[in-house]
Amino acid sequence: MQTTLADRWRGRAEAEEAAAIVRKCVHCGFCTAACPTYRLLGDELDGPRGRIYLVKRVLEGAVPTAKTQLHLDRCLTCRACEPACPSGVEYGRLADAGRRLVDESVRRPLHERAVRAALRAVLTRPRIFAALLGLARQLRPVLPARLRTQLRPARPAGEWPRHARPRRVLLIGGCVQPALLPNVDAATARVLDALGYETVVPPAAGCCGAIRQHLGDPAGALEAARRNVDAWWPQLEAGAEAVIVNASGCGTQVRDYAHLLRDDPAYSAKAARLVAATRDVAEFVAEHAERLAVRVAPAAAAGDAAGAAVAGEATAAAAAPSATGRGGRPVRVVFHAPCSLQHGLRIRGVVESLLARLGAEVLPYADAQLCCGSAGTYSLLQPALANDLRTRKLAALERPAPDLILSANVGCIAHLDAGAQVPVRHWIEWVDEMLGRDGGNPVVRGAETGD
Ligand code: SF4
Ligand code: SF4
Repeated sequence: MQTTLADRWRGRAEAEEAAAIVRKCVHCGFCTAACPTYRLLGDELDGPRGRIYLVKRVLEGAVPTAKTQLHLDRCLTCRACEPACPSGVEYGRLADAGRRLVDESVRRPLHERAVRAALRAVLTRPRIFAALLGLARQLRPVLPARLRTQLRPARPAGEWPRHARPRRVLLIGGCVQPALLPNVDAATARVLDALGYETVVPPAAGCCGAIRQHLGDPAGALEAARRNVDAWWPQLEAGAEAVIVNASGCGTQVRDYAHLLRDDPAYSAKAARLVAATRDVAEFVAEHAERLAVRVAPAAAAGDAAGAAVAGEATAAAAAPSATGRGGRPVRVVFHAPCSLQHGLRIRGVVESLLARLGAEVLPYADAQLCCGSAGTYSLLQPALANDLRTRKLAALERPAPDLILSANVGCIAHLDAGAQVPVRHWIEWVDEMLGRDGGNPVVRGAETGD
């Protein structure tokens, strides 16, 4: 679309970038049907083409209103519209830039500003978040039923592997996951340990910056990126082979560090190298699928040396269970691919293939490309729309009667688990259990903790 930047935006990098993105759009509307909020609300302005038009008008000098802001706020930044677009419009970048430009002109009501400031302050500080979450969990018995459902007890993490390994990888520390789902990092470390890798979490690293980026704090997002580059760089220099991410929302943000820091001479080269070394845990583990497959069911049946060959540990291999569900049949799973995994990182089918190779029956379901409604802080800022999307997503996921719903991002797992009839877990926890390394913290086989 022809777009002429208004004088007030000339020279502003994000406005120039946004205008370049808008110019790629040919207004064809192929993206509209892919958009969850358009499907829910049926309003052109709650779909990608309508939102692009709103941003274009702002770039050309129109004064945005609270209504403009609302339509942009309702966007999940799920990026389901991107693969549907024949012109390669980078809608996710446009949405972030457009929101920032609109927020400069439209002052939010006090309570909205307070909620956003609280989310930025609490969710990005792991210690504060863990303390508040721990307190809330203690108060859980006296909370209203709706809040009790949202606030599941934590599943214990089990042991972190203690073996020294010749090969090493980094795991990003993250912000909410260690407190919300403590078993995910531990399960990741155990699976990597079984493959012969030691997992290091540099203590100085922290939140990837995605929360600040999407809550209109680009300076805070850049600060987080620089802090993580500083924390990870010495480990990479010392021979760590990859930066592993097990929350795809964080992975999408980390993969963007090279772009975010492109104009910073002190960080641009380091960021580019870090991005090249960053792997979603699915990409990394899938390369070892054959070794893991030997380890899972046959190792349990034979109790033997074939499985032990993965990392030379006969005891763990002998304890490995086979991938069976109720009645001895293969465990039936559905995999909810987070938007950040399938649209952000463009990793599609990798986890499903790995799960099937390890013996699970992976069931198809309808509308797998649609967002579950979690979307970072969206479920907190737009709870009605987020709950509608969750209801639709769970109906689709549970229709084939799975034993388990598996996913790959902390936000989706917590959001879906609060409304699901079957357990919702990170897929790495299931692999961990299949390797018999879950330390008595079963995903499939036993009762859940607390509920
Ligand atoms: S990012 Fe998602 S919610 Fe936003 S316009 Fe695109 S498809 Fe719709
Ligand atoms: S599909 Fe792409 S080019 Fe067509 S309207 Fe949507 S964003 Fe614009």
